[in-house]
Amino acid sequence: MTSLYEHCNLCPRQCGVNRLKGEQGYCRETATLRLACASIHRGEEPPVTGQGGSGTIFVSGCNLGCTFCQNWQISRCAGAKTMGREVSSEEFAAICIALEEKGAENINIVTGSHAIPAIAEGIDCAREQGLKIPVLWNSSAYETEEALEILNTRVDAWLPDLKTLDPVLASRYFNARDYPERAKAAILKMLSLPHSLIIVRHLILPGHLESTREVLQWFAHEYETKFYAENAKNKVIVSIMTQFTPVNVTDMCTPHMRYVNREEYEQVLDWLGELGIEEGYCQELVRDSGWLPDFGRRNPFSARGDDVSELSSPVWHWKDT
Ligand code: SF4
Repeated sequence: MTSLYEHCNLCPRQCGVNRLKGEQGYCRETATLRLACASIHRGEEPPVTGQGGSGTIFVSGCNLGCTFCQNWQISRCAGAKTMGREVSSEEFAAICIALEEKGAENINIVTGSHAIPAIAEGIDCAREQGLKIPVLWNSSAYETEEALEILNTRVDAWLPDLKTLDPVLASRYFNARDYPERAKAAILKMLSLPHSLIIVRHLILPGHLESTREVLQWFAHEYETKFYAENAKNKVIVSIMTQFTPVNVTDMCTPHMRYVNREEYEQVLDWLGELGIEEGYCQELVRDSGWLPDFGRRNPFSARGDDVSELSSPVWHWKDT
């Protein structure tokens, strides 16, 4: 499977580089999987967090590279190598098992689209070693249908973003004018696979509410025409996130240096009602940066630097030896 890295067309960027020889494409990653951290996370949607927390594994690198990325230290660090450490399939499997032993209800793989072959091998290795809990795929949805097919028998639920359906915004903020078409196709591909839960996540971009309305209209239409009919085998819901937080990354432009405001938040709630989207989640309005991760800390989600916080408890960190 790693031969897919030889002329890498794994994602819609279609760089064609030989990552097995150490070449890097848009995602800036070679064929070797790198991870930033793994923790028991309690800030996901209720069915993902469950009682025991979600076993999140943050993958280093990213094939989309949003200019406003909250995880910029591990996804697209200006000029320098992003934070993270190379791991083998065996170490990936050991991390999964450690998360399960700490009580995680699932393995939640975050932003691994550029590393699907290596992660697939890691999941296989973890299953061979006895991993029992479900595996969740948490991604930008900037993915090809062929790549998602690799995950078909390995992933139990999907958490795709749908960031925008506006090609101009996608071009400006992700350098991916084709993001809308690719993401819609990826989500419909996930729907066609025999899994139980798809949570379509949308982050409100301050000042771009028309983009949020377009996403909600698409979701409502697809729900009527496809999702609802498919719900016998797949449950599809939407999750609205308000946590857009201005970040300061030197070589990247942050589009709107402010938070979502109350007026915007209430407008989105109105639209959910107007469009008849009844089932799903909407985050409370977030108005401070206290939750922002710092992947230089062993517990990135603890602003105080504690090893354990309400939001997460660390299990593995790239600085661990
Ligand atoms: S996974 Fe990386 S190298 Fe491969 S096509 Fe996508 S951005 Fe390019």
